[in-house]
Amino acid sequence: MDFAPSEDHRMVRRIAREFAEKEVAPHIREHDEAGYFDRRYLDRMGELGLLGLCLPDKYGGGGLDYISLAVASEELERVDTSLRVVLSVHIGLASLGILQWGTEEQKSRYLPDLATGKRVGAFGLTEPNAGSDVAALEATAVRDGGEYVLNGEKTWISLADVADTFLVFAYTDKKARHRGISAFIVERGFPGFSSSSIHGKMGVRAGNTGSFVLQDCRVPASNLLGEEGEGFKIAMSCLDNGRFTVAAGATGLIQACIEACVRYATERRTFGVPIGEHQLVQRMIAHMVRDVEACRLLVYRAGWLKNRGERNTRETALAKWYATTASFEAAANAVQIHGAYGYSNEYPVERFLRNSKGAVIYEGSREILEIMIGQYALGLRQDRPLRRSLPGWPFEEDGRQG
Ligand SMILES: Cc1cc2nc3c(=O)[nH]c(=O)nc-3n(C[C@H](O)[C@H](O)[C@H](O)COP(=O)(O)OP(=O)(O)OC[C@H]3O[C@@H](n4cnc5c(N)ncnc54)[C@H](O)[C@@H]3O)c2cc1C
Repeated sequence: MDFAPSEDHRMVRRIAREFAEKEVAPHIREHDEAGYFDRRYLDRMGELGLLGLCLPDKYGGGGLDYISLAVASEELERVDTSLRVVLSVHIGLASLGILQWGTEEQKSRYLPDLATGKRVGAFGLTEPNAGSDVAALEATAVRDGGEYVLNGEKTWISLADVADTFLVFAYTDKKARHRGISAFIVERGFPGFSSSSIHGKMGVRAGNTGSFVLQDCRVPASNLLGEEGEGFKIAMSCLDNGRFTVAAGATGLIQACIEACVRYATERRTFGVPIGEHQLVQRMIAHMVRDVEACRLLVYRAGWLKNRGERNTRETALAKWYATTASFEAAANAVQIHGAYGYSNEYPVERFLRNSKGAVIYEGSREILEIMIGQYALGLRQDRPLRRSLPGWPFEEDGRQG
């Protein structure tokens, strides 16, 4: 067991932290208040190599390991969740989905632009009547010669109004239930595609979330990802990577709560002493410290399994469940420690609380993950090897050694 971060991990942490602290933190309160998504941050993340950091060199990525993705997610969410959401969706859900399931032609066509941020990726699974219950999807895809014709509506899609390349899940055979769902790579420019933004969100207000409609949207048959009927498995394997980044981000949010609370508890005085000298305040901070350390161990272990090219659905689900519930609790306690000041946006902790709630709902709600972990424990759920696995690290194609 080696707990030491590599040179690459240190470098990624430094780059992500400097970007988030220097370029985003000074404006985040204003952007959050206005519900403004600043497109320039995406471009900067592309320039800094953050949008392709764990894609193989061969496809224009940074060739780094999956723990680097966790480190970047942690550092970005330490400043604001909306930054980490970009990594979750663009890398975790979309790019790694294409890397795992794409043909060589699809990977060569899409990954180089995704790796640099020239194209932005998104993931369209949820619909107005289908969230946790994926089999309830209503979107359909009908083969017509060399194309599929897609119809349906996707909602609560991160980056819906920003992205260019969408993984979309639709039924090619409704009667076959889960086994009748297929996955497609859909480009914004395909005829019949339109998107819109959702306003009035509780959190992630500096990020973009929206809906898109597919109305007789014609998708070349060559954009089917995997085989017909493999869509459910593809969606779940993408979630293994998305959830990993959500768990890492939640760890960064707890870290931000600790830093804000230690600062405030040292300055604010009641009954003649700094509030940090009261044991009940110390307890809330101690819980945050316990959880940030536990989350890192869970997240990095899931990343270690990814590096080895091993199935990690259970470990990633456990990390995401634990980290997101812990970060919600940490943020609620961070507001508590700040008293009335914590209840206004004069301090960042109220934003942390609003942002932390979303992660308990998306990419597998708390309840769905809890059920999964219970089922694993009882032997009611087992993971079989997938037809295509996420490449382990070091990536073979580019000859890079870890
Ligand atoms: C900010 C944000 C960003 C998002 N980004 C994306 C995205 O990029 N792409 C995408 O496809 N989706 C995205 N989503 C959607 C998200 O994945 C869904 O909200 C999530 O899957 C839950 O589905 P739902 O909201 O329909 O809730 P439902 O599935 O209707 O569940 C409602 C409640 O019932 C509980 N519940 C449901 N089934 C059970 C059960 N069997 N046992 C016990 N409890 C149960 C749930 O845990 C939840 O508490 C996003 C959501 C948010 C809030």
